[in-house]
Amino acid sequence: MNGLRTIKTFLKTCKETAARGIEAAARFLKPIKKILRDGLLSLFFPSICPSCKRYIKDFTHVYICEKCFNDIKPVPDPHCEICQKPLDTGATLTCRECRDRKNYFSYTMAAGAYQGALKEMIHFYKFNKKKRLYKMLSEIMLDNIHHEVFEGIDIIVPAPLSRKSLEEREYNQTELIASYLSYKLGIPAANLVIKTKETERQSSLEREKRLTNLKGAFDIKKEFIDKVEGRNILVVDDVYTTGSTINEIARTLVLAGAEEVRAVTVARAV
Ligand SMILES: [Zn+2]
Ligand SMILES: [Zn+2]
Repeated sequence: MNGLRTIKTFLKTCKETAARGIEAAARFLKPIKKILRDGLLSLFFPSICPSCKRYIKDFTHVYICEKCFNDIKPVPDPHCEICQKPLDTGATLTCRECRDRKNYFSYTMAAGAYQGALKEMIHFYKFNKKKRLYKMLSEIMLDNIHHEVFEGIDIIVPAPLSRKSLEEREYNQTELIASYLSYKLGIPAANLVIKTKETERQSSLEREKRLTNLKGAFDIKKEFIDKVEGRNILVVDDVYTTGSTINEIARTLVLAGAEEVRAVTVARAV
């Protein structure tokens, strides 16, 4: 019996020593793995950070250097409680635009100000076909947007692209973000809204024209018409500039019977 116990103890010691050895090896290999990964990535990806123009040494955030990533700025305070436009003083809760126009959405929230690294990442994502950035931009939204905006939401709806823009870009950048948010938050996402009119690009227009350019440009997809009534809907877009796009989409949803429309964007022009 004693012999058996000695063998058992010996085997247990061996097992524990092996486990400690594996742990130590994993600890030792972790930085080496990172060095190898960063080395390999620097062979395949542009190694200059588009935001600060310095060489990227750490590829944790792939296209952007660690410093710029950590430098993403929130929308400055004080800001309009409806559209987050920065206000000169905190004397009023809302901005003049929100007081002057009819807003069909109750409020919008952005992960950060449209500047620096966040702006660069959105540009890369939209115009350089860096499709896989959707995950990082969605994570930035989940980390920086107050989750009260997601409470009570029934459906997440991406801002649609016109057919022509979709053909040019090959994918709808907001649809990928909406799907990821849907998966992470457990709220269904659907392309309820379609863009029925080819419009001029909002960024190429004067403010006044931006406000009328999108009038009547959206519609609800026929098969989803009964999914809108009485629902709380969250519209997802990449950048909030004047809010014309989001307001027109919200108007379309409210006219179709939506109970409430809120919006989230990756960034907000400041
Ligand atoms: Zn940088
Ligand atoms: Zn406002």
